[in-house]
Amino acid sequence: MSKKPIIVIDPGHGGRDSGAVNGVTGSQEKDIVFSEAKALRFALKQRGVDARLTREDDRFLTLGDRAAIANELGAPLISLHCNASNGDGHGFEAFTSPGQTKSDALATSMLDAYAEAFSMKSRYDFRDGDADKEAKFAVLVRTIGVSVLFELGFIDNPADEKFLVDLNMRVQRAEVLADAIVSWLVETTGFKPVSKEAVQKEPAKMVAKSDRTDGADKTDAIKDLQALLFDKVETIQDLEKKLDAAEGKLETIRKALG
Ligand SMILES: [Zn+2]
Repeated sequence: MSKKPIIVIDPGHGGRDSGAVNGVTGSQEKDIVFSEAKALRFALKQRGVDARLTREDDRFLTLGDRAAIANELGAPLISLHCNASNGDGHGFEAFTSPGQTKSDALATSMLDAYAEAFSMKSRYDFRDGDADKEAKFAVLVRTIGVSVLFELGFIDNPADEKFLVDLNMRVQRAEVLADAIVSWLVETTGFKPVSKEAVQKEPAKMVAKSDRTDGADKTDAIKDLQALLFDKVETIQDLEKKLDAAEGKLETIRKALG
């Protein structure tokens, strides 16, 4: 079997650096992007990609540390962030280092997929011929290979924040971004992903089929599955409550009708 492609996902900020914060709800960027990164890792692994994280917990890493992890693995780096702009910003965007680079195609694939899936403002910048914005952010200029910084939405905008913290939307975002990353891998490396049908049919099996022997992958997979199951249980409990309420209403109507 050919080697799996590696993708390094970097949850921005961490530890003493909370990143942007929503002053009303208290949501912190470091937490949102960490959950997001774990969901994305899960979705990528399902598709046969060897996805790694730059941090496995709430810890501080320098920007140089993050770039170094990707450089050491010789893998693309995707840094996840949330925007903030005094509550009046809205939408998503991606950054690559200045100039035409190999990163542009990955950024475009992610941006287009996100735009198609979610009714959010696309903060595209076509002045340089592609959809992404350009900046000399350290995680972008210190990486040797492909690197993209993706801003998922504005943490201090009420609508965006709701979208960012919603668990079902998180799973959807992970699916959408994983598909975008995989189609870029297919185009640039000839990677053959696990088929979508197989992914949807038996996610647990796909994740448990680890080629690592130290068990770390399996522990991750179990944790990821527990998180997903937890979401499902919450949804079911929610639906049960709604059903109870609806039955109550129906009963009232029945009584009123005699
Ligand atoms: Zn950030």
